[in-house]
Formats: sequence, C-alpha cells, structure tokens
Amino acid sequence: MNIKTNSVHTGVYKDKSYNSVTTPIYPTSTFYYDAIGKNKGYDYTRSGNPTRTALEENLASLEGGRGCCVTATGMAAVTALMFLLKPGDHVVTGNDIYGGVYRLFNQVMSQMGLTFSFVNMRNVDEVKSAMTDKTKMMWIETPSNPLLNIVDLEAMIALAKERGIVTAVDNTFMSPYFQNPLELGADIVMHSTTKYINGHSDVVGGAIIFNSEEMEDRIRYLVNALGVSEAPFDAWLVLRGVKTLAHRMEAHQANALAIAQHLEQHAHVKKVYYPGLASHPQQDLIKKQMKGFGGMLSFELDTSKVSLDQFFAKLQYFNLAESLGGIESLIESPWHMSHASMGEDGLKASGITPETIRVSVGIEEVKDLIADLDNALEK
Ligand code: PLP
Repeated sequence: MNIKTNSVHTGVYKDKSYNSVTTPIYPTSTFYYDAIGKNKGYDYTRSGNPTRTALEENLASLEGGRGCCVTATGMAAVTALMFLLKPGDHVVTGNDIYGGVYRLFNQVMSQMGLTFSFVNMRNVDEVKSAMTDKTKMMWIETPSNPLLNIVDLEAMIALAKERGIVTAVDNTFMSPYFQNPLELGADIVMHSTTKYINGHSDVVGGAIIFNSEEMEDRIRYLVNALGVSEAPFDAWLVLRGVKTLAHRMEAHQANALAIAQHLEQHAHVKKVYYPGLASHPQQDLIKKQMKGFGGMLSFELDTSKVSLDQFFAKLQYFNLAESLGGIESLIESPWHMSHASMGEDGLKASGITPETIRVSVGIEEVKDLIADLDNALEK
C-alpha cells in the first residue's frame, strides 16, 4: 500500500463498539481480567495499550517493518537499544550524530561498560579500521544533524553483515517518507517521533522499528522491562500527526529547497548544507538511497557581516528554538544549543562551527520565509 494511504488507515480502527474513525485514547493504567489467564490481550499499560498498538502498527507499515515499539521520547528509544548490548561491547558511530545521542553514548553508556568509536562514517575505511572483535553495533544517522552528511547505508550494512553486527539507523531527519533503511537491509530503524512523524511540535516521543522475530522479542522485552514505553495520550497525538506526514514532507522539502538555493546566492552566507543542492558533494549516494531531500538545512553565516545575535533577533517567523520537524519554521545555533553537550572538541571534530545555523523549514508561505531571512541577513 502507498505510504499516503497507510499513514491514514493502518492500525487506526480500534473502536469496534461505535466504529469511530479515529482511534480512542485508552487512558488506563491497567485492564481487568474476566478470569485468571483470561483478558482481552492487554493487562498493564507499561506492557501494552491499544492506542499505542495503533501507532505501532501504523509506523511499522510506513517503514516496512514487522513491528514497532513506541517510546516516551527519541532518547528513550536509543537508551532501550543500548540494552541490546552488554558491558565490554563496542559501538561504531558517526562523529557528527545528534548531540543528545553523542552525550548518552559518551557520558552515560560509557559508564555502563560500553565503548564507542566516533568516526567519519562517510569514509568506509575509517569505519573498517575502527571495528574490533568486540564491535556489536553500528549506529548510523543519515543525513547527519546538523551538517546533512550522508552515510552510505548499503556499504555500512554490508560491512556489518559480514561481521554479524547489528545495524541501527536513526531515520529522524528523512522520516519514512523519504528513506527506508529496513528495505536496504538494516536491522533496526529509530525515530524521534517528536519531529516529522508527529509534525506539530506538541509532543515528544520515539519509535523503534524492526524486521526480525528475534529483534522484536528482545526489543519488546526491553521497552517493557526498562519502562520507557509511550503514554497513550502521547501515542494518540503522534497517530493524529502522522496521517499528514506525506503532505507535510512535500511542503517542507519544497520550501527548504527554495530557501537553500536563495541562501547559496546571498553575500552574507558562506556555505549552505542541503542534500537537494547541486553543490552537495554526495549526489550519487543521495540518489541511490533517498527518495527526497527533506526539510532541514544548515548554513554558515558570515559573522563579519552580521552577528548571530543580530540575525536571530531580527527574524519574525523563524523562532529561535531547539527541535525540528514541526510545521512552523525553527532556527538555532547547534554550537550553542542543540549540540553544545558534545563539548568543544566534539563539535570541532564534527565540523560544526560557532557560525553554523540550523534551520527546520516549516510549511509557511515560502516568500514570507525568504523575505524574513533576507531582512535578518542585512546589517
Ligand atoms: N535523533 C535525532 C536525529 C534528533 O534530532 C533527536 C532530537 O533532537 C533525537 C534523536 C532525540 O529525540 P527526543 O528529543 O525525542 O528524545
């Protein structure tokens, strides 16, 4: 089924009593038994809830997976996946992944006995030489946040499969509309549903989608045992949001492309990072593994012409805020905000500078957005 149809219908119809066209919210902590061992498939909301099941069926269908677990936040999803590993295990990942994931790996999970190599994942040889006999997982984020670097999914998955290593892909930036890593052979896809999947900046959530029975058993067990599952009301909001995913992604992308092209010509902008620009150096890879370019772009502001503070202060439609993927445009400084937890060394290694500006392009009228940016870019 086409993703536009799937996102509207799959999993949704849980109300057999009144035939509601939207999924009911089941705000209950527990479910009563008719007799010992006899219930209607649910016993306790941490373990399972029909509203959450609806969202899980929907998201599994969008990514082409056999199942999905939805979690309280994107970070809760990443945390649960780390528990697939045991002390001594090693993970290879990018040096330009989302700052919060970098912090979880580098400062929290490293205390639990896991080890990590943060490498330039665009370079297959660098990834190969980081691998040891202890490597048990490859954590891939593509395109990366915020510099939109692309990792070759097929090459990484092939490398991991040769060595029996689990591949987990953070697909938050592309959403299932523009990229489907399970189809390319990845074991796990993770989303911060806070972003494009929900799309309205009114909930935080995460999702883990898998395609093998073994992964399903292990991940469902962990999400319940760790207690990181999503609340029914939050799951309901995300399910409401995902129904318009395809249409929102098209609108985000059209606006982002127009803005990226405009900024690339602006005298006060030094460089623009956007997969839809001919200047993006990884064109072949983009065509091979992505169905579109998405709504995120970053650029280097020429701060000798206009200061960061001045630029942000003059903007009217771009709110200075972390997060991304909502219908309203947001803008931020990864160095000072979303990625600050990486520390100066981590930031420098990833290529982020104090002048890097990340834009989550919304679905407003693009002429208004361009005029707003032009005004703020003037001295
Ligand atoms: N992965 C990426 C690429 C993100 O951008 C984020 C949040 O910004 C996360 C994971 C974490 O998700 P959450 O904020 O929902 O916990």
